[in-house]
Amino acid sequence: MYDSDSSGNYTCPKCKSEYRIHQGHVPMRDKDQINCDICGDLIKRWNGSRVFNAELLKAGEKPKQE
Ligand SMILES: [Zn+2]
Repeated sequence: MYDSDSSGNYTCPKCKSEYRIHQGHVPMRDKDQINCDICGDLIKRWNGSRVFNAELLKAGEKPKQE
């Protein structure tokens, strides 16, 4: 999981997809999370007026079901 509050790049540890994390603010407190588009792994979770959004830069390989 991306453990900094600032914007930056994130690479999914499961499928190696690359994301750019954008940070924004909303007037109301918000609680939500972002999951990887490819494998569904948790990218970021928050609870507050700071919100995040992940832009997919490079899609990784979807892990095979075992
Ligand atoms: Zn992933």
